[in-house]
Amino acid sequence: MEIKITRSKNLKARPADESKLGFGKIFTDHMFLMTYGPEPEWHDARIVPYGPFELDPACVVFHYAQELFEGLKAYRTADNKIQLFRPDCNAARMQDSCDRMCIPPIPVDDFIQAVKTLVEIDKDWVPHTDGASLYIRPYIFATDVGLGVHASKNYIFAIIAAPSGAYYAEGINPVRIYVEDEYIRAAPGLTGHTKCGGNYAASIKAGDLAEEKGFAQVLWLDGVEKKYVEEVGSMNIFFKIDGKIYTAACTGTVLPGVTRRSGIELLKDWGYDVIEGKLAIADVMEAGRNGKLEEVFGTGTAAVVSPVKELYWKGESVNIGDGKIGPVTQKLYDTMTGIQWGRLPDDKNWIFPVCEG
Ligand SMILES: *Cc1c(COP(=O)(O)O)cnc(C)c1O
Repeated sequence: MEIKITRSKNLKARPADESKLGFGKIFTDHMFLMTYGPEPEWHDARIVPYGPFELDPACVVFHYAQELFEGLKAYRTADNKIQLFRPDCNAARMQDSCDRMCIPPIPVDDFIQAVKTLVEIDKDWVPHTDGASLYIRPYIFATDVGLGVHASKNYIFAIIAAPSGAYYAEGINPVRIYVEDEYIRAAPGLTGHTKCGGNYAASIKAGDLAEEKGFAQVLWLDGVEKKYVEEVGSMNIFFKIDGKIYTAACTGTVLPGVTRRSGIELLKDWGYDVIEGKLAIADVMEAGRNGKLEEVFGTGTAAVVSPVKELYWKGESVNIGDGKIGPVTQKLYDTMTGIQWGRLPDDKNWIFPVCEG
């Protein structure tokens, strides 16, 4: 794929204090764009100065949310190399999302090339502070003009990038989780396995209500019986009960996280039994009461691994591990971040080098 590059003539001032970056608040100097339509192919791959879109008010995306996204990071190593973690997995998952949303897929190699090229051009924006990284947001949206409900014939594929601070700037802080027993996130046949914006729009209400009650995130149960644990906000979730590790299977209602998949591989390497399947929330609470719920943690690109200290379901709370991060959670966090920042060897070929820093 040929990418035409137009460099920005007004480079922005980069943040002086990387400890105040936060997440997804400021963006680099450039963005990647590619267009689909009116001819039925992706064309005009280009990198241009970061800036607003001009879109017709009747664009399909505004009305019927034909849209999807991805999320991954670029890391700066101690010896000043810039690298990505498993972008091939994000590319493949984006193709799966495309299929469900009737959006023409982007070839895996083109996706990776687009991400690498943007990161290289904006490499000075990849933070230097330990734990901080460049968050990369690829997304596709429908641009047909008109109010009929149909698959668009025109799309924009865009990639923007946001230098983001260390998720745990003040040390890893275990969170309280609200088990949602009214609203649902996904159901068989719907879009739970895709990263489409609509899933998030539908989740905001439950998230807000949980936050008002002092919880960091919502744990979603299955959408049919509200009986089995599925995932948390924008993370997959794992439970260590009596030595075994459980997580929901990716059978259509759960987002197949790259961090989830990598974590399962590492846990199995370390000899743990990892069971991907149905786990009833009632059994989790019971294990909590009996002192068998040893560790609970979420996994996702943003936090990597996020320990849970409390689960609240239907008026009852169980506490996990005295409010401290458990040993398996800690080991997984140290190993994953070690590989991502190049402190540990990349035995599994998960790292894709981009350039010298
Ligand atoms: C993105 C996402 C995850 C985590 O996926 P990663 O690839 O590990 O970042 C989990 N659940 C939902 C709903 C998500 O959108």
